[in-house]
Amino acid sequence: MTETLTPPVTPLTFLFDLVATSARRAQEEESREAVTAADEHVFRAYRDTLGEAFEQHEWSGCPALRDNGLEPSAVAPVGGGLWLHHTITTDDDYRDVLTLLVPCSCGRGYVDWQLENEQDLLEILTDLRRTDGRGVHGDPDNPDCATNVSPAGSRR
Ligand SMILES: [Zn+2]
Repeated sequence: MTETLTPPVTPLTFLFDLVATSARRAQEEESREAVTAADEHVFRAYRDTLGEAFEQHEWSGCPALRDNGLEPSAVAPVGGGLWLHHTITTDDDYRDVLTLLVPCSCGRGYVDWQLENEQDLLEILTDLRRTDGRGVHGDPDNPDCATNVSPAGSRR
């Protein structure tokens, strides 16, 4: 018969548990706040388009990834493999940054468009409608999808 040994709870293990729980709660809080920020930005700045198309529960929050210098963010599936990504910059003036991630026509990656406003979004959507929601891989000799041109041909 084997006896199950549980390690003794020392003040140190108690304190380690405490900070681990505290860190987890902070991350959950950051994720929740990221979802709220994305929802509020879309509702405020894209009221007639994304504000109508998205509800808060469609966003998924992600806490800050401090080792990579990334602020808390939220993503939402748009459909057709497209995604919206929202974050708030802290380097200058806490600006909302909303990015549309579009699968590239080459099938190997995404091209991203930082959206400036609702008119900008409508222009991109008009272009994407012609290409069935795919970015056009610009230079076939360059494997980097980031070198894409917009479906209409203007470099973004
Ligand atoms: Zn590509």
